[in-house]
Amino acid sequence: MTALLPDEQPWDVVVVGAGPAGLTAATYLARFRRRVLVLDGGPSRAGWIPESHNTPGFPNGIGGPALLARLCEQALAFGAVARSGRVDELQRTPDGFRLGGSFGFINVPAVLLATGVVDHLPPIPGLEAAIRDSRVRMCPICDAFEAVDSRIAVLTDSDLGEREANFLRTYSADVEVLLVGEAHDCPGKRIALEDLRLDGQGMVLRQGGEPERRFDHLYLALGCAAQSGLAVAAGARQDELNNLIVDAHQMTSVDGLYAAGDVVRGLNQIAVGVGEAAIAATAIHNRLRGAG
Ligand SMILES: Cc1cc2nc3c(=O)[nH]c(=O)nc-3n(C[C@H](O)[C@H](O)[C@H](O)COP(=O)(O)OP(=O)(O)OC[C@H]3O[C@@H](n4cnc5c(N)ncnc54)[C@H](O)[C@@H]3O)c2cc1C
Repeated sequence: MTALLPDEQPWDVVVVGAGPAGLTAATYLARFRRRVLVLDGGPSRAGWIPESHNTPGFPNGIGGPALLARLCEQALAFGAVARSGRVDELQRTPDGFRLGGSFGFINVPAVLLATGVVDHLPPIPGLEAAIRDSRVRMCPICDAFEAVDSRIAVLTDSDLGEREANFLRTYSADVEVLLVGEAHDCPGKRIALEDLRLDGQGMVLRQGGEPERRFDHLYLALGCAAQSGLAVAAGARQDELNNLIVDAHQMTSVDGLYAAGDVVRGLNQIAVGVGEAAIAATAIHNRLRGAG
């Protein structure tokens, strides 16, 4: 994506975030004949997906980068503009919103936040490569089906690990929770991160004099950080996990500020994010034409 030029204003809507939710909203808004700008400040979580088999319409699976490229192509085909640029400030104004960042300032009547979440990743050598080829995974709802009958470890620092392990036991009888950090009262086998080693087949756990254990898949259950800071600074309410609270039309508690995708309380799934994006985009269009 290229940088934003100062004379490209005015916009009807700015969408912050070019993941599946933001790009889907951009397609809808462009097809509503809105001047829509998508600003994106970094990698989408979907860029990690080696191959998704639950994304509707792709029975043979699709990789995250390919899906993002298609979603972007679709939005641009209808006239949406996508630019790189991190939004650092968001303020409510009498006429809408003022956004600030490396691109300068933009005044716009409506804003949709599709800023996603950032996963907490442990410092294990080779982790990124292992995520990209599915040895390490982050989302049992997404890909547990592709782990049937395999040996699974769930790495956690909270009781989320045991909940994910119970979910995974629908798929495999061999699921072990590995516990790191301070939460001594949570279920699981206490280990140090240094006891884990990723290799070409999966992961090996080696602890003191105990026999070595091998796993095919390591699921991370270490939580994530909702990228809700912009909305919260503008006055929006969030829940106990920092996900934004929205109404039935995806509007946050700040009038005219909408949100969709992982940053909103929900399943952290592509299908959910694109559905929310469709609802939000339609509500924004109706609002701008004075009908909502
Ligand atoms: C390994 C892995 C596998 C997965 N597999 C699947 C699967 O098979 N099926 C499925 O449904 N889901 C899957 N998911 C989840 C899926 O990736 C997310 O649900 C989806 O990406 C959420 O879309 P989003 O648009 O809400 O957020 P994201 O895709 O995270 O996009 C948010 C965008 O906003 C940008 N942004 C954030 N803050 C700012 C800012 N201040 N200014 C500008 N830009 C900003 C970010 O840089 C990012 O590009 C998987 C996730 C992972 C990590």
